[in-house]
Amino acid sequence: MNAAARQNPVFRFAPSPNGPLHLGHALSALLNADMARGAGGRLLLRMEDIDLTRCTPEFEISALGDLEWLGLDFEQPVRRQSEHFPLYRKALDRLTALGLTYPAFMTRGEVRAFVRSEEEAGRSWPRDPDGAPLYPPLDKALSASERRERLETADRHAIRLDMEKALSLLGKPLTFVETGSGKVETLAADPAAWGDVVLWRSDAPSSYHLSVTIDDAKQGVTHVVRGRDLFHATAVHRLLQTLLDLPEPVYHHHRLLTDAQGRKLSKSDGDTGLAELRAAGASPADIRAMVGL
Ligand code: GLU
Repeated sequence: MNAAARQNPVFRFAPSPNGPLHLGHALSALLNADMARGAGGRLLLRMEDIDLTRCTPEFEISALGDLEWLGLDFEQPVRRQSEHFPLYRKALDRLTALGLTYPAFMTRGEVRAFVRSEEEAGRSWPRDPDGAPLYPPLDKALSASERRERLETADRHAIRLDMEKALSLLGKPLTFVETGSGKVETLAADPAAWGDVVLWRSDAPSSYHLSVTIDDAKQGVTHVVRGRDLFHATAVHRLLQTLLDLPEPVYHHHRLLTDAQGRKLSKSDGDTGLAELRAAGASPADIRAMVGL
């Protein structure tokens, strides 16, 4: 983090409006607000709504209502990712110009079938940190003419990062600065663990990794405070920042709240939904206590 960032810290809370907010979101939003206040910094809100089928204006309105009720005051205007697809496309084009992307044609079902046949042949297939199989190397191996033909005939395709090539451009090992343990630590980032990540889909014209990286830079975010479930994704974000010459924020991955069975809270768990808790008479102070702040 450079001196200017230290003098002007910028925090952001970045929910996806694809369901009602729950206590896990409250923890993240309140922690961002507390840390921004403690650092004398700004607090931004970003709606990560690139998934045009699952994200709805209704969920956004209810999220804004919940956050206001919690007493959180975000700078206006709220950034909406769905309004910035051309910006993400420009970044994608830059990576393509560097020779780092390729069109990917396999459906989820085809990937599953490929992995099954590898494993039936006794070859174990690597999984990413979220447990999903890495994308097979078949599309990357297509000749230029085969690729052209597939582009003409395929219904749809995604664009993926050629991880191996991208890593070969780096001059030194990737790291990130993490403060989630309470100490400032410089940790090794391992984007290779994710394989050839998706950068662009035909149905959601961007990807989480690309848009989050571009927006954090565009909004001048200096401190990314988010759940521990995104800890490993940071490696991909650091890689994209490096390839696209974007500044490096400090990361703080906080604990996750779990349900009685020890599972991460999800948007379908009604009993931890902020709207339900509020309707049942909880106050914002109760929510703060419930999330352990
Ligand atoms: N939109 C992501 C989510 O709701 C969070 C992204 C981030 O904080 O980097 O899980």
